[in-house]
Amino acid sequence: MVRLIFFLCALVAVAWAGVWVVDHPGRVALNWGGWQVEMSAGVMALGIILVAIISAITYRFWLFITRAPGRIGHLLQDRRSQKGYKALTKGMVAVAAGDAAEAQNQVKKADGLLREPPLTLLLRAQSAQLNGDENAAETFFKTMLDDPEMEFLGVRGLLNQALKRGDESDALALARRAQVLKPKSAWTADILFELEARGGHWDKASVALTQMHRLTPVTMGESQHVRAVALLGQSLEAETSGDDQGALKFAKKAVRENGKLIPAALRLARLYLKEGQIRKATNVIEKAWVTSPHPDLAALYLDANEPSDGLKQFSRAEKLLVLHPGSTDGHIALAKVALEAQLWGQARTHLQAAIDSGRTTRTVYTLMARLEDEDRGDKELVRSWLTRAAAAAADPAWVCGECGHVETEWKPHCPKCKSFGGFKWETPPGYEALSTLNAEPLRLEAQNP
Ligand SMILES: [Zn+2]
Repeated sequence: MVRLIFFLCALVAVAWAGVWVVDHPGRVALNWGGWQVEMSAGVMALGIILVAIISAITYRFWLFITRAPGRIGHLLQDRRSQKGYKALTKGMVAVAAGDAAEAQNQVKKADGLLREPPLTLLLRAQSAQLNGDENAAETFFKTMLDDPEMEFLGVRGLLNQALKRGDESDALALARRAQVLKPKSAWTADILFELEARGGHWDKASVALTQMHRLTPVTMGESQHVRAVALLGQSLEAETSGDDQGALKFAKKAVRENGKLIPAALRLARLYLKEGQIRKATNVIEKAWVTSPHPDLAALYLDANEPSDGLKQFSRAEKLLVLHPGSTDGHIALAKVALEAQLWGQARTHLQAAIDSGRTTRTVYTLMARLEDEDRGDKELVRSWLTRAAAAAADPAWVCGECGHVETEWKPHCPKCKSFGGFKWETPPGYEALSTLNAEPLRLEAQNP
């Protein structure tokens, strides 16, 4: 539109100039070097326009000729680059597909065509790794460290190599460097938290955790669980270094963060007991028991107060059952206390309740054998219960959700696979009931002579 208006204006100007020349006739005479030229003003104007047009065309032609070699050079370079990028892409696809030979072939091509080492360095490193040459890959990753634009990729490659060979101090140093380079990278925050926590640097782990949750949104439940586990780590660290008050402070925070995390309640209660604050310890256990009954909570609850008085212990254990009616662990705790106090009828009732609730584990059957032995001395029944115990499912334990490793004591990290906060209280895999005997309904009365 603008061009059209411009063209129309120019047309009007030319027409007006033409009319003006016609309206103002005149002659122009030129004397130069013995030459004399005489013409009308209109012809001269036309001559000037013609000379201007010819000059412009000549100038454009001259530009075209002088720039031609550069253009041809650029064209050839473009083609080389296109081929180079194509080889780079093919190489990346080969790396993703695990085709070591093709990756190496393409990296050579890309290298020759692109002549931009930073672009091909990553592919060369990945190709070397695919060919099992970690040393060559390391050299490439280290070369990347010198280029500010490639530095993060180099650090990341070296970090993955350090993790692969299990060198955690090297990996941690590299993760910290990666964090400085890319503070907004979720991957960096994640790996940094993991490594700081594994190394027991709980203060730094806590900072990394905040950053991690800022970058990768998680559910409230997940966030509270991870925070509580990290706080328990801080509490452990403080206690190990002799700072009991610090340990208590972190344990309190952990319980506030996730009241259902049994190890947090256990830890806080133990620390209160260490300080002689029995009432506070009892309150913590009772509160945790209401939502999450657990044999360790029951054991600590009973140990905290006059453990040698059998009858008092029985009434304390009864309170646990009142706090969480029908709890299998409450029945088992009561049965154990009843056995100690020689309250055979009570022991039988609560063991039966545990079995009825589906807890047909080694502990329950072993307690049955003990009951039959101490109450009636019936060797045949004792043997029968022990046989069941041998084939029964193992009791729940702390099982790593990642690798299935089993621990009797909860830990923030799995010692085997190093995963963080993954322990769950459940039947260890591979330790389920062996015999169909355990599936049969059991009535203790039926076993009585
Ligand atoms: Zn594990």
